[in-house]
Amino acid sequence: MRDRLRLAVPNKGRLVEPTLALLHDTGLVFEEHDRSLVARVQNFDLDILFVRTSDVVEFVGDGVADLGITGQDLLAETGSALPVTRALGYGRCRLAIAVPGDSPFQAAEDLAGLRVATAHPNAAHAYFRDHEIPVEVIALSGAVEVAPRLGLAEAIVDLVSTGSTLAMNGLRLIGDVLASEAVLVANRTASAARADDVAALDTMIGAVIAARGRKYVMMNAPAARLDELESLLPGLESPSVIPLAHRGMIAIHSVVGADDIWGLLPRLKAAGASGILVLPIEKIVP
Ligand code: AMP
Repeated sequence: MRDRLRLAVPNKGRLVEPTLALLHDTGLVFEEHDRSLVARVQNFDLDILFVRTSDVVEFVGDGVADLGITGQDLLAETGSALPVTRALGYGRCRLAIAVPGDSPFQAAEDLAGLRVATAHPNAAHAYFRDHEIPVEVIALSGAVEVAPRLGLAEAIVDLVSTGSTLAMNGLRLIGDVLASEAVLVANRTASAARADDVAALDTMIGAVIAARGRKYVMMNAPAARLDELESLLPGLESPSVIPLAHRGMIAIHSVVGADDIWGLLPRLKAAGASGILVLPIEKIVP
């Protein structure tokens, strides 16, 4: 058994920056030398291997790496049964079916007997087979969105996040093959043999992801309004209430959903809170 855990991560493409940000946010200390193949983590027995996004699944499957970060779309494409340890909340996209805006097709079923170009041939093939829609899947390695214009195919299956690339190419969505986000995957043997290290890394990653969706809110208030304010603040468990030097006044601390802040502050103010502070949270371990 190796003495250091190995994590394979993408070295190019959209998942690189958010993956490095996540790993740095967990508190792992490492330097990337122009994304050379390996970065040695200084404060945990871990080596980070930078490989092509599409190769992450193979590295983990073969046991060359114990863990990996990749897109669910790539797991589906390789047909891998690697266990997903955790969804990471970034790299969100969908593998979708699109056709030229002026074509008559409105749904996947309308494509029976036609050609579909894609860089995800296995996932596309599985979708049309499962839905019993006979199509010819044409595998391309890139520039899939121009295939209909070039007369190569009547439709495409491609990754979409905002849809702006599709719109720029005059394409219209007619269906979804799958939804995807970045995930942490683990090699089964490695996870069993190094359960403690794998759990430690997963806990730290989970702590960062949990914190990203939440804010720490502090405020002062008259003690008499506590019930009203507490009903607005579910917190992780219940809010902390601290008496202030000024009699009859309290400080309330709580953790709230980052998306709720917008609607919450005016209501807290209306319920008597003052001096409201909203702070970022680095990590949450429930
Ligand atoms: P790429 O940067 O093209 O190498 O894509 C790497 C991975 O990023 C894909 O396999 C997806 O999991 C993910 N991804 C997230 N958003 C998108 C998007 N809008 N288009 C393509 N891939 C995306």
